Amino acid sequence: MNFRSNVSLAQYTTFKIGGPAKLFAEVSDMSELALGFERAAADHLPVYVFSGGSNTLFSDQGFQGLVIRILDGGFHLLENGRISAGAGQSLSKVAFDCCEAGLAGMERLFGIPGSVGGAVRGNAGAFGADVASLVMSVKVLNKRTGMMKEYKKDECDFGYRHSLFKDHPELVILSAEFLLKPGGDPSVLKSVAKETQAMREAKHPQDAFCAGSFFMNPVVTDEHLREEFRHDSGKEPKGDRLPAGWVIDQVGLRGKTIGNAKVSEQHPNYIVNTGGATAEEVLTLISIVKQRVRDELDIQLQEEVQLVGFGHEAAKKKREKPEEWPVWDK
Ligand SMILES: Cc1cc2nc3c(=O)[nH]c(=O)nc-3n(C[C@H](O)[C@H](O)[C@H](O)COP(=O)(O)OP(=O)(O)OC[C@H]3O[C@@H](n4cnc5c(N)ncnc54)[C@H](O)[C@@H]3O)c2cc1C
Repeated sequence: MNFRSNVSLAQYTTFKIGGPAKLFAEVSDMSELALGFERAAADHLPVYVFSGGSNTLFSDQGFQGLVIRILDGGFHLLENGRISAGAGQSLSKVAFDCCEAGLAGMERLFGIPGSVGGAVRGNAGAFGADVASLVMSVKVLNKRTGMMKEYKKDECDFGYRHSLFKDHPELVILSAEFLLKPGGDPSVLKSVAKETQAMREAKHPQDAFCAGSFFMNPVVTDEHLREEFRHDSGKEPKGDRLPAGWVIDQVGLRGKTIGNAKVSEQHPNYIVNTGGATAEEVLTLISIVKQRVRDELDIQLQEEVQLVGFGHEAAKKKREKPEEWPVWDK
């Protein structure tokens, strides 16, 4: 297993931002992962595990520990519509392979960047579909105890962009089993997947350096605001939440720029690196967004993107007390 020192993390994220990892390794099975944990313990280093890097913002200082990137992990067609996929598999590839095998259920997940492990942890979803509705069980390795465990779906505490694994970063997902519907026509399923990709292209910035939706859609109970959303969009709110992008647009921050970090013009819940942005610029921009949304609409936005390596205290302060930060004009 190859441990490398001082490896730039920016190259492994869709944001293309981030300083170096003190130590870095790529693993493709459980034994390599366990070796990584052993090495970190021996060197007294903290460990951070990720995979596709499509939901992560590393700090400009990087990570003063061991960063492990999970790759591959296998893909198996089992019986009666069940499949098993390794945590490092690309979710989109798994979705497409299922279509080709005539297994229905993942078509609308096609096009979501990142890995199976990342998608299970965050219960990734799009266009009315989500990962949780297909999961049967999840295998994890506990990096503190070294124990392996299989969680059944009803133990995973899935919710909107949430799972048990999000609350327990010591649980590293190794693989997941999914139940799909067999007997589908591969060409029909593949055309739904391609149509989904086309819808994504129309809705989201595609070639931008970003990490997808920066904030989770907030719960909004203010009926006046909900009515305004209906009027503006011609759509019913999904449950008690309103789209974070719509909320950000209401406070006039579409296009707001700090250095090379920008609130996307096309989709205001995307923070885009327009070229050479620093994590500091992104953090400053999101502080402004959160503060303005809270001041003007009394809504507290919460990050969906994982902020890594900012140092607990500094990041917490910036996130919780943005009013202590200077406010720049648009
Ligand atoms: C252009 C774009 C569009 C997007 N569209 C969508 C969308 O439509 N719907 C949606 O839900 N998301 C979307 N995203 C966000 C992102 O693709 C998902 O959150 C994805 O599931 C993250 O997977 P990843 O492997 O890249 O995670 P990473 O960025 O590698 O990691 C994210 C978090 O998951 C943890 N993690 C990763 N692998 C594991 C593992 N094996 N075990 C335990 N924890 C792990 C990491 O520690 C980190 O905290 C989009 C992102 C981009 C860039």
